[in-house]
Amino acid sequence: MPGPRGPMGRSFLTEEEKANRPKVTWPLLKRVLSYLAPYWKQMVLVIVAILVSSVLSLLPSILTGRIIDEGLIARNMNALIKYILLSLGVTLAANLIGVLQSYLNSWIAQHVTFDMRNSMYRKLQSMSQRFFTTNNQGDIIMRMTSDIDGVQSTITRTMTDILSNAITLIVAVILMYRQNWILATVGVIIIPLFTIPTRTAGKTRWNLTRESQECNDEINGILNETLSVSGQLLVKLFNKEEVEYERYEKVNEKMIRLNIRESMAGRWFRVIISTTASIGPMLLYLVGGIIMMRYDETLTVGGITVLVTLLNNMYRPVNQLLDFQVEWIRSMALFTRLFAYYDMEPEVQNKENALIPKTTIGTVTFDHVGFYYDPERQILKDINFYLPSGQCVAIVGPSGSGKSTLVNLIPRLYDVTEGAVLFDGIDVRDLDLNYLRSCVGIVSQETYLFNGTIRDNLLYAKPDATEAELIDACDQANILDFINKQELGFDTMVGNRGLKLSGGEKQRLSIARVLLKDPDVLIFDEATSSLDSISERKIQEAIDPLIEERTSILIAHRLSTILAADTILVVKDGIIVERGTHEELLAKDGVYKELYETQFTVRSKKPKE
Ligand code: ATP
Repeated sequence: MPGPRGPMGRSFLTEEEKANRPKVTWPLLKRVLSYLAPYWKQMVLVIVAILVSSVLSLLPSILTGRIIDEGLIARNMNALIKYILLSLGVTLAANLIGVLQSYLNSWIAQHVTFDMRNSMYRKLQSMSQRFFTTNNQGDIIMRMTSDIDGVQSTITRTMTDILSNAITLIVAVILMYRQNWILATVGVIIIPLFTIPTRTAGKTRWNLTRESQECNDEINGILNETLSVSGQLLVKLFNKEEVEYERYEKVNEKMIRLNIRESMAGRWFRVIISTTASIGPMLLYLVGGIIMMRYDETLTVGGITVLVTLLNNMYRPVNQLLDFQVEWIRSMALFTRLFAYYDMEPEVQNKENALIPKTTIGTVTFDHVGFYYDPERQILKDINFYLPSGQCVAIVGPSGSGKSTLVNLIPRLYDVTEGAVLFDGIDVRDLDLNYLRSCVGIVSQETYLFNGTIRDNLLYAKPDATEAELIDACDQANILDFINKQELGFDTMVGNRGLKLSGGEKQRLSIARVLLKDPDVLIFDEATSSLDSISERKIQEAIDPLIEERTSILIAHRLSTILAADTILVVKDGIIVERGTHEELLAKDGVYKELYETQFTVRSKKPKE
């Protein structure tokens, strides 16, 4: 059936797409082709298959003329059967070649996207922390999924369609002119005219479809927000059930109205298409009839029928070729977006000839370290300290003073902007990144667990850990009792991001995970949220084996943690303002004392109250 392709009518550009037209340059095209290059043999086969099947699919139109003139009108049974069989055979052959072409096409597309997906995933994995904190997660995932899927349809559809439509049109026009030049000219003139109403109706429908898609997104947004675990909690606690229901009902009603309009527009669309599509052939019959009856007796009924059938075969290619520009712009925009991702340079990179020391001692030095995320705002200023092997330092300070930022510089989640962080006396930027990260373990404030079993999450740190090692780590991390109480033990599912566990349990599990990794330097970023005294004691007991004889840095929010450290660094506004032991700092009567009196004392006393 002629008309803009598909119910969604991808034939028009959105305002946004119009505004962001990509610049098509030769290097861009060359790069696109470079992805196809490994499959050039298959590409040649596809092109040959398209050529042959396009020509073959037009042959039955010519044979129809023979069936009518030499078979039916001449009353010749043999000729009739011969041309019918020939026509059927040609159609079958064209379709079989079409099958081969689709197979090859999707084979090429799948292989190209396989290559692109893998290299994109590797690229994303290599990106530094800043990339993930500044980019929207949805956008990143979209590059991996729908954008690369788009490449697939560019190969299987856009490229093949352009080629096969162009060939079909050229061959059809040649055949028409060979039949009768006057009728052929009439056909060539009317075809573009009849695509206008079809395209106009298509655009109206497309706009409606987009509107209803937006409405659908809104509905999904409401559902996601209000039916999620935390969303539901908020709704319930603020008594917002009725308000949310009304909001939902309103959008739902809008959706219904749009859907009805859309389906009616679809109905009218079909009326317009079938009417315009039938006017063309009728005009050809009329003009052909006039020529045949008044001016040219050599023009036969079969001849006119051939022209009409060829004309019918031209609607679709013409319409699709009119979409060519849109498809082209969209495909190029897609490749431009993807290439921009491929060209990103990870901020933190492994140096060439990076060092892998033979022995690890486990000392950490901050040498005049300065750091900022954005140049306008310095976060850390002139940080200096030396942490000998096996010692433990606690970092305390008000929220937002830069404690987490400071420790993130050690495993190079970010690189310093001034000074240097040294591990065993070597600038961390000179060390092999894998080596450095294998030496440093972090238990972060927000514990991340994968959706899997407790065992899966533990084995992530050490895939070859034995059952005894798992038990030992969990025992030290004070989580073994909890695991043993679960019906499935280590095979208990932790839920999405570990939601089925409490904050304290999650943190103890991640302590067990780090114990399995057995790093030389341990960083423990204590959760700020207050825990009850039992959980706090359990966590404290879990930390003790971790920091024993191991270089460790504790970002402490609780007195019990602070007291476990050898030295305390007090950070305020990105500067180390005080350092010393608990007693020394209390005696100073400065920032630490104030923190101690306002935060630590309150927190540690609270559970007992
Ligand atoms: P808390 O005790 O609350 O965890 P903190 O002392 O660990 O706080 P940091 O997380 O290091 O503080 O943050 C220090 C400052 O840097 C904050 O003002 C924060 O807003 C800013 N900051 C943290 N991460 C980023 C980031 N990825 N991009 C930009 N600014 C950031």
